[in-house]
Amino acid sequence: MITELKLEKPIQVTKPKLPDFDIYQEYIRGIWENQWLTNDGPLHENFKKNLRGYLGADHLELFTNGHLALETAIKALDLKGEVITTPFTFASTVHSIVNCGLTPVFCDIERDNFTIDADQIEKHITSRTSAIMAVHVFGLPCNLERIEELAQKHNLAVIYDAAHTFGVEVNGRSIADYGDVSMFSFHSTKVFHSIEGGLLAFKDGELAQKLKALKNFGITSPDSVDYVGTNAKMNEFQAAMGLSNLQTIDADIHKRKLVHETYIEHLSSVEAIRHLPNPMVNVKHNYSYFPILLNDQESRDQLHESLKNYNVFTRKYFYPLCTEFSCYAEYKQDMPIASSVSERILCLPMYTELETEIVQRICSIIRYELGEGR
Ligand SMILES: *Cc1c(COP(=O)(O)O)cnc(C)c1O
Repeated sequence: MITELKLEKPIQVTKPKLPDFDIYQEYIRGIWENQWLTNDGPLHENFKKNLRGYLGADHLELFTNGHLALETAIKALDLKGEVITTPFTFASTVHSIVNCGLTPVFCDIERDNFTIDADQIEKHITSRTSAIMAVHVFGLPCNLERIEELAQKHNLAVIYDAAHTFGVEVNGRSIADYGDVSMFSFHSTKVFHSIEGGLLAFKDGELAQKLKALKNFGITSPDSVDYVGTNAKMNEFQAAMGLSNLQTIDADIHKRKLVHETYIEHLSSVEAIRHLPNPMVNVKHNYSYFPILLNDQESRDQLHESLKNYNVFTRKYFYPLCTEFSCYAEYKQDMPIASSVSERILCLPMYTELETEIVQRICSIIRYELGEGR
């Protein structure tokens, strides 16, 4: 270890972006004036309108978090039986399927961008399959065309867990435009946040009424409850945070791009790093994460530990795979590519306000710890 490289303050893998306090305060003052705290308040409606503009999506609904948005999407689409999904994701994806009484069927992932391997989906389709739930991992889009093709051929619904993909565009189109429903998470650790929060963007405008009802106990009018719903409404304080953060989102993504480029510049020649995030053509990225792949699990774990001595906190994300969770012991199975990625992956610190000098320092530490000088 080189002590002089140690950072004075701990650098976490992520850090929430807080908006200008005065801007947030202004919105909050409005809440005191209106005395409207939740249930489709004025900030909620304003936030929705601005998001429609930003995402270029006509149909969307807000939720108190991304996870309940996912569960609500499953219920609104009336899915039954089996849902094909990926083991290389956050617990939420698979929990949403299981919490809705459906069976997750795991499909291995692509080596290059860690999303579900669309060429392997077909072999998992049975007469019980009702949907594909794919994840745009680390902000990289799935194989959208192939998934669309399969869905049409087999009459399956497509839900995208787009939790990592706020602001991403493919061929000039918002990522929200693909699939039947896309879920965006506005949790504090995401590129864009509303403290906690979630969004569903969907193709069929008819779904709006059902989604609205489902997130409010299934209530459809003062005298009728038509669905077994839940409580997943976004409140006015969340909407105020979202509106404040939306004002700077493009500048924030640009700052993350600089962090990304600094990492690439200083790490691309490091032999022991087997994979750096590779930008895809035709994709406008949001630089949500900076995952690297090491040679094997031992070197990954070693680097993760040794960086702590320098006050740099990385994350083994996604590790373990969902197929390895004790609560999913019944679904345990071999996922060769996903396992190999999961054992070797390490997400480096990545957030809007991460200074490039700190990134350079982190790179020097990594280079030194991987035996590449500094
Ligand atoms: C964050 C996240 C979720 C859950 O979103 P919340 O807003 O935290 O409920 C689901 N899927 C993935 C891939 C995520 O990263």
